[in-house]
Amino acid sequence: MANPLTPDVLVDPVVLTRALVDVESVSRNEKVIADCVEEVLRRAPNLSVDRHGNTVMARTDLGREQRVVLAGHLDTVPINNNFPSTVVDDLIYGCGTSDMKSGVALALHLAATLPDPGYDITYLFYEAEEIDSQYNGLALVAEAHPDWLVADFAVLLEPTYGVVEAGCQGTLRAMVRTHGRRAHTARAWRGVNAIHAAGEVLRRLEDYRPRTVTIDGCTFREGLNAVRIVGGVAGNVVPDECEVEVNLRFAPDRTEKQALEHVHEVFEGYELELTDSAPGALPGLDAAPARDFLAAVGSEPSAKLGWTDVARFAALGIPALNYGPGDPLLAHAPDEHVEIGKIRDGAATLHRWLASPAGF
Ligand SMILES: [Zn+2]
Repeated sequence: MANPLTPDVLVDPVVLTRALVDVESVSRNEKVIADCVEEVLRRAPNLSVDRHGNTVMARTDLGREQRVVLAGHLDTVPINNNFPSTVVDDLIYGCGTSDMKSGVALALHLAATLPDPGYDITYLFYEAEEIDSQYNGLALVAEAHPDWLVADFAVLLEPTYGVVEAGCQGTLRAMVRTHGRRAHTARAWRGVNAIHAAGEVLRRLEDYRPRTVTIDGCTFREGLNAVRIVGGVAGNVVPDECEVEVNLRFAPDRTEKQALEHVHEVFEGYELELTDSAPGALPGLDAAPARDFLAAVGSEPSAKLGWTDVARFAALGIPALNYGPGDPLLAHAPDEHVEIGKIRDGAATLHRWLASPAGF
């Protein structure tokens, strides 16, 4: 297959979005698209290029005072009668249009057309974001080539509909267990019912008042929810164990440890087992490149409520945020699409920011 990412295509981020969508790249099938992207980057005289699996890194080395990362994942969720792309009026439909080939197009367009940016730029086009994190290209690179991620600030071009979404909430899952004593239900007075004992656990969840926390102008809404309940032995047995799985989404002013302590407090008196947790990320909007970026966008940031790869940068001490042309509500939807105007706005904003960081 000839590389569809020709110079004519690269100069127009809208045409480039379609071209990227039309290279199928469902997770674990990113080789072809990574080959195309790598070839484009290797043609650019100002970039040094490297590759790990199907993750491609390209960087300028202009001796600028600060370095920024522009990152996007190359994979998509499975196609769903939405491949290849189609255009209806000012909308491009197709798998990955919103999440996140329109964002990838912005980064690749800049890589090909901005030889002399005001910051040094590291471009990362990575594999396998949409599946289990053991395959995540950014995680693999953090292990194998941590130097590729070193920067003063990072932008992930995930769908945000053209607003800045900064930081992200942490997430923690735990099992709250109640115990009882088995008995035949015909002689239930000889047992202790563990499912009934879970009533108090549910009451505490019902009474729980989650915090709302504002950091750097971004408002994070926490939440504590039961997500599963398991108990019962048979239709004639008083059950001796019940498990309520709870999920805390916590603002990034709490560490994972503090979040766990909080859940212990809420369920004081109960057996509690941590099953999974991931840290949040502070917005980090006081870094100089972040301030310049916000000025270029010209609108207030909002908080990212889900967990995103932004947290992987935060874990390395690199402030990071999400900013992309796609609509997050359309990600993974069969009618996924992106507005052509949002792609053009995004390209103009990034050009403004990167062409003259001292201009604000
Ligand atoms: Zn995505």
